[in-house]
Amino acid sequence: MSIAHDLQTLRDRLTPSDRMPLVFLGHGSPMNAIEDTEFSRAWTELGKSLPRPRAILVVSAHWMTRGTTLVDVSAMPRTIHDFYGFPQALYDQRYDAQGDPELARTVATLLASHHAEEDDTWGLDHGAWTVLKYLYPEADVPVFQVSIDMGRDLDHQLEIGKALSDLRDRGVLILGSGNVVHNLRAMRPGGAPQDFALEFDQLFTDRLTARDFDRLADRKGLGHLLRMAHPTVDHYMPALTIAGASDTRDDLTFMTDAIDLGSVSMKSYVFHAA
Ligand code: ZN
Repeated sequence: MSIAHDLQTLRDRLTPSDRMPLVFLGHGSPMNAIEDTEFSRAWTELGKSLPRPRAILVVSAHWMTRGTTLVDVSAMPRTIHDFYGFPQALYDQRYDAQGDPELARTVATLLASHHAEEDDTWGLDHGAWTVLKYLYPEADVPVFQVSIDMGRDLDHQLEIGKALSDLRDRGVLILGSGNVVHNLRAMRPGGAPQDFALEFDQLFTDRLTARDFDRLADRKGLGHLLRMAHPTVDHYMPALTIAGASDTRDDLTFMTDAIDLGSVSMKSYVFHAA
């Protein structure tokens, strides 16, 4: 089946809707899922202002693959507790939303040129459910994840975002979950933000605002500062997916602008039709 043909199938199945916003959330500590924090409160508020999508596609920092992009086609994605040493209350959390196997299969076809494959073993990792539970607390919108191909460089996620952007006109909300700065080795719990964290956070904000996405994906140009902000780039990648899915018609709104634990940026942002 050609990609063009499949896009047509998708268009036939889903009636056009108002263009869905794009959301990137800095998720930070899993404890936000059960604690009343400035972040969890902001996610609740955001949820109240978001339209009700027909499905949510999540790109989370915590689903990493290599050489392929996997799309979860399961009917009932399980809640994955992919962290260690946290209170039992966090392991008791579940987010029982349905999947959308038909749409997920279409997305796998859309991304065929990016080595996409269907998968039914993943589910919802904590990058997804710890924020979804605030955005859509009833868990009544179908949701599925798309993995990050860590075998490819930063610009690949811009391309993935671009390839997914048409879904916005078909009622699909694309949610990226990671952190604009994420260096767990440089954490200072209760301490002041690290200089490199403030610097990269500002650079990211400026370049995103200027829609200079190539600069944000320029590993060489970002150099040492990127290596400090992201010793590994897994939490950075979803920020680029969301940028790649945006277009010049979108307005950009920033929220939860804070450096947590000294070296984790909680900056979040929404691209929305003007
Ligand atoms: Zn994380």
